[in-house]
Amino acid sequence: MDSEANNQSTVPKKGPNDFIFGRVLGDGSFSTVYLAKDIQTGKEFAIKVCEKRHIMREKKQQYVKREKEVLMLLSDKVKTSAPFFVRLYCTFHDHSSLYFVLTRATNGDLLTYLQKAEKFDEEVAQFYTAELVHAVEHMHLLGVVHRDLKPENILLDTHRHILITDFGSAKIIPQPPFLPDADNSSEGTARRSSFVGTAQYVSPEILTDKRSSPASDLWAIGCVLYQMLEGNPPFQARSEYAIFQKILKLEFEYPALFPSVAQDFISKLLVIDSKERLGAQDFGGYPSIKQHRFFQSIDFETLYLKTPPCPSKCRDTVDLVSEASDPSEFLNAEPGLSGQQLSKLLGLHLNDEPSDASRKSAPEPSRETSSSISSTTSVPPPPAKKGLIHFPENEQQLQARLLQQQKTQPQWHNLVDKKLILKQGLIDKRKGLFSRRRMFLLTLGPNLYYVDPSNMVLKGQVPFGLTLKAEPKNFKNFHIHTPGRTYYLEDSEGFALEWCKALEEVRKHYYD
Ligand code: ATP
Repeated sequence: MDSEANNQSTVPKKGPNDFIFGRVLGDGSFSTVYLAKDIQTGKEFAIKVCEKRHIMREKKQQYVKREKEVLMLLSDKVKTSAPFFVRLYCTFHDHSSLYFVLTRATNGDLLTYLQKAEKFDEEVAQFYTAELVHAVEHMHLLGVVHRDLKPENILLDTHRHILITDFGSAKIIPQPPFLPDADNSSEGTARRSSFVGTAQYVSPEILTDKRSSPASDLWAIGCVLYQMLEGNPPFQARSEYAIFQKILKLEFEYPALFPSVAQDFISKLLVIDSKERLGAQDFGGYPSIKQHRFFQSIDFETLYLKTPPCPSKCRDTVDLVSEASDPSEFLNAEPGLSGQQLSKLLGLHLNDEPSDASRKSAPEPSRETSSSISSTTSVPPPPAKKGLIHFPENEQQLQARLLQQQKTQPQWHNLVDKKLILKQGLIDKRKGLFSRRRMFLLTLGPNLYYVDPSNMVLKGQVPFGLTLKAEPKNFKNFHIHTPGRTYYLEDSEGFALEWCKALEEVRKHYYD
């Protein structure tokens, strides 16, 4: 175990066993974020756990390194007193994972909030844009360009102030001095990088010459403000390519009744030439932005002390979330994130059981513990069936009745040798760099077939056996390990855990 207390050599080093892990707060493309409680202080955090193997496989080392570097810079108390960022308290790692201990954002993200409200009133949009400007100014003064500012990456703290997150795409530009445009910086070859960010918020200069600069974040602020007032971002189309075309032609409209001062402000940020954007020529902060009429009533220095205004649509329904979570979230939990603990948190009990070697002599666990499967199958659940596979006394009759029912949907029935389908669902099966959507069909036998659903062709089977092991990674991703091969699978509907439970239940039924 190795740990690195952030910037504070006197702070004792922490590891996973210093925390009790609670529920999953969310999944990223290569991380899972858990609610966690520091055993010593009782303080709650969000701990982002990135699996090393996955990072290496997806070649995301740079992304993770950059995120840590920027978070450390922004969390450095000596350099920053700005409250509007997710703070990194410490990092550590063990043989399988990297851990980032972060401020817990208790009120979700700005996108979800905005979707609930549909639109923000001008006062609310003005307040959040002011916080965003204040945070971005601070970040740029430290030489950090975010490059992926969007409502999903703006989290909300207990009092609903903003916490900017997701610095994996960020760039650190050399300083001092603070340069208005990083195109003049000496970052050399790193400047011409591949496309970063999200289509709707990406600035034209990133699309044309792949050069980002602090002004690229100013463009994104213009897009986010437009979205707060209108409900949708300014540049929208069916494909990314079409969105890019619109951005390059500055093709967007203000609807009737769009507040005129906000319109003037946005029009000064959504300017094709990055050097002409409001603020791009400022040095040492963004006075020209802060002095715009849109912020007439805002005192930037005391923003954090104010209570953020509520959108009128949410005024009666939105409660502030209390800082501490429900104590029952941590009950019975042991410190750390061992395999056993992980399976408990993901709602499984697979690792509580004996290892493969001792399985045969182990007493049969109660069926009830593994029978609560909510199947994604289109076959109606049998009335008297306990669990996925445990049929009662009149087993034969029930199976026959279910098979009869199944025959009425012959497209799958014939592909699985007329065996009773226990569970089915569309799953993306990854091999190398490519992922293909397959219909997975788990049947009596046991067999796990996968079919190309476009051509209705049986593509293969995952070999079932005593040692088959389904390993959940998060709600969407899971792996199936067989002696000869590991299958990398993603259920975009989020039923990965159900699949793992089902596979384990069937494995036990046949082989234990
Ligand atoms: P990707 O890494 O694929 O771009 P992401 O940025 O959403 O995705 P993470 O930063 O790993 O990935 O976060 C995953 C999810 O976890 C988020 O969408 C959010 O719901 C939740 N989350 C992340 N950080 C926090 C936090 N500090 N407090 C509360 N929830 C968080």
